[in-house]
Amino acid sequence: MRLFDTHAHIDLPRFGSPEEQRLAANRASSAGIAAILIPGVEPATWPRVAAVAESLSAKTPGVRFHTAFGVHPFALSDLPASEDRALASRLAEALERRGNAEFAGSAAITRAPVAIGECGLDFARTRDAATRARQLAVLDVHIAASRRTGLPLLVHCVKAHGALLDRLLAAPTPPAVLHAFSGSAEVAAALCRAGHYIAFAGAVTNPRARKPKEAAAAVPADRLLLETDAPDQTPFARRPARNEPAFIVDTARAIADLRGVTLADLAEQTTANACRVLRVELPD
Ligand SMILES: [Zn+2]
Repeated sequence: MRLFDTHAHIDLPRFGSPEEQRLAANRASSAGIAAILIPGVEPATWPRVAAVAESLSAKTPGVRFHTAFGVHPFALSDLPASEDRALASRLAEALERRGNAEFAGSAAITRAPVAIGECGLDFARTRDAATRARQLAVLDVHIAASRRTGLPLLVHCVKAHGALLDRLLAAPTPPAVLHAFSGSAEVAAALCRAGHYIAFAGAVTNPRARKPKEAAAAVPADRLLLETDAPDQTPFARRPARNEPAFIVDTARAIADLRGVTLADLAEQTTANACRVLRVELPD
């Protein structure tokens, strides 16, 4: 069985020390996780994300570590709005590494970002019109970069699915990954019809969670992805431990049960989906 954790913030200091990162990568390898995508959440963290992916790839040959660069809506409160205009060029510069990697041998392949994000909208924590407008403007920078480079977006979206759909459906956009999906089955269906992918995290393991389970049961098989969102969103049975990629097995099993398929089949399907949307290959 091979699983792909499409969203794990292993680089965050609150995930753990470099030694703890390495031990978690070993546990992931033992649990059948073949690849992990680490998204950067603001420009200051992008070099750290790349360094952690590179270091863990060298120490844990059984697991491929990939990167994505973006600006999370929660990070905006720490960033001066005056820098928003420079964001497009900073993002373009960070994504350039992809082009260079083609010539730098296989070790550089995992360093080249495979997606743009984490970016998105979170209207649950703010009713302020200016804050929401800023989130939308910064998301637009990411969408423009995705259309320009062809790289998929990694999108965080909470209580803003209408605004997100308006944007993603307004013009052709490369496939986006809706991370830790919290919307309805209907919104998931509309996104999938437009070519996007839906990733589910530990919420589906909560016996009382109705909405994510309905969505996880309904998403077309070829659009379904798995993630942990580590160190957050620990699967129900593992709480109160901090989340880590090895725990993705709980989420995979919960979704396999919801869909009436075997864990092995769900793993194969979701890993193939992740490789397709992120355009990465796993060793045989
Ligand atoms: Zn995240």
